[in-house]
Amino acid sequence: MLRTILRALGALLLASALASPAALAAKGKTELHWYGQAAWKITTPSGGVILVDPWLTVPTNPDKNSIAELGRVDYILISHGHSDHVGNALEIAKKTGAKVLAPYGLSFNLVSVAGLPKDQMIYGGNVGGTIDLPKAGAKVMIVNAIHGSELVPPVYKAEPGQPAALASGNPVGYVIMIKGGPTIYHTGDTAVTEDMKLIPMFHHIDVMLACIGGYFTMDPVGAALAVQWVKPTHVIPMHFGTFPLLAGTPEQFRAALAKRHIANKLIVMKPGDDRSF
Ligand SMILES: [Zn+2]
Repeated sequence: MLRTILRALGALLLASALASPAALAAKGKTELHWYGQAAWKITTPSGGVILVDPWLTVPTNPDKNSIAELGRVDYILISHGHSDHVGNALEIAKKTGAKVLAPYGLSFNLVSVAGLPKDQMIYGGNVGGTIDLPKAGAKVMIVNAIHGSELVPPVYKAEPGQPAALASGNPVGYVIMIKGGPTIYHTGDTAVTEDMKLIPMFHHIDVMLACIGGYFTMDPVGAALAVQWVKPTHVIPMHFGTFPLLAGTPEQFRAALAKRHIANKLIVMKPGDDRSF
């Protein structure tokens, strides 16, 4: 009798484990969760967790407890110094012990100005380099982005008479190669640039996370050209709709992709959505 009950309990535990994101990853899937703006959580098949541009308190995130709900985080990748991309990285790094990768100049300023514990900084790589992320079973290639990377408030608070924005090296994008999973290109904030033509010469991109909001970055028309050059299997738009200035829409993006006969690549997600690859 006891053995029967234990067996039933075991089956129940197994069933609930199979339904969890970690179990999905364990079955060979990579799970993407979008918080909004450029903030993503990537759970790899080995169970590793990578956050990119982790602004979890972005107003469009429907889950107001995202930071409290975070479990394991192995790595935080930051594309540039603007506050909507550094986001909650410092709080999350301190809470989880995650290692932080940011472009060279920014990584040092995050330690010296913003208070990131030095032993959690991955010695800042830069464009063209590939960095190993062993705890997540992944590697990341740092690629060019055409943007700025000043550290700005609230991350950097200038003293009176000091510059209001602190230069922090180059902005970047990340090509994240997951062992047994997809290769994901997070554009960061960027204009469309011919440098993107180089990316498919090195890596086939399974999933491109592309900024489309305009004003600060590519708009839907520019992003559609970027997709034509990067040749991903799928593209998911991001960095739109958070503020009125980010006026590009997925519908405009779909129309711009359709003009290039590549609208079949488009996957539209909402903040709070999950998607497995
Ligand atoms: Zn920016």
